[in-house]
Amino acid sequence: MAKTTVSEEKIREAIAFHGHWCPGLATGIRVAELALKEIGKAEDEDIVAVAESDTCAVDAIQVLTGCTVGKGNLILLGIGKMGFSFYRRRDGRAIRIVGRPPKPGEGPDEYRTLQAKSNNEGLTETEASRFEALRQERGRRILEADLDELFEIKEPIRPVPPHAPMKRSLTCAECGESVMETKARLSDGRTLCPDCFDREILRA
Ligand SMILES: [Zn+2]
Ligand SMILES: [Zn+2]
Repeated sequence: MAKTTVSEEKIREAIAFHGHWCPGLATGIRVAELALKEIGKAEDEDIVAVAESDTCAVDAIQVLTGCTVGKGNLILLGIGKMGFSFYRRRDGRAIRIVGRPPKPGEGPDEYRTLQAKSNNEGLTETEASRFEALRQERGRRILEADLDELFEIKEPIRPVPPHAPMKRSLTCAECGESVMETKARLSDGRTLCPDCFDREILRA
């Protein structure tokens, strides 16, 4: 019996959005569950999330919390850590959810061996279906685990991200395309988009 309080229907929605079932998505479902409990849902509150890496988990967080990259209330840092911060602007309440690192030797040897082989020389058909079965099982176990077994709740390291106002656009003097004012560069007094700026730097 699954311990998660996220409904079957919501889980199916997350799988449909993400495209497959995997341990990373399961982790994201549990992160979202904890964030909804502690901070609330972005549709009802002014909430901003910061994910420290771009993993499968992020897709579940987008479906379940209402914090999305497109709306600008989900920011991806790409620093490769399993940390997810949620900030509620109304009262400044904020948490950072951090995945507990595996204990040395944790997880079946078979899983770790197959994972390593999959990353290196690749798997045979039999190994691939065994690995898939183990991944399914791992995802299911994440859904059934206690939240405090999976995560630690800490204080966010970073301050709440500022509101993202609509950015004015400028026209790049080189390619003629529009570029957000905040991303435009100046070179010899000409306004350039980042791509044209980089090309000019390489030419110089
Ligand atoms: Zn995935
Ligand atoms: Zn340009």
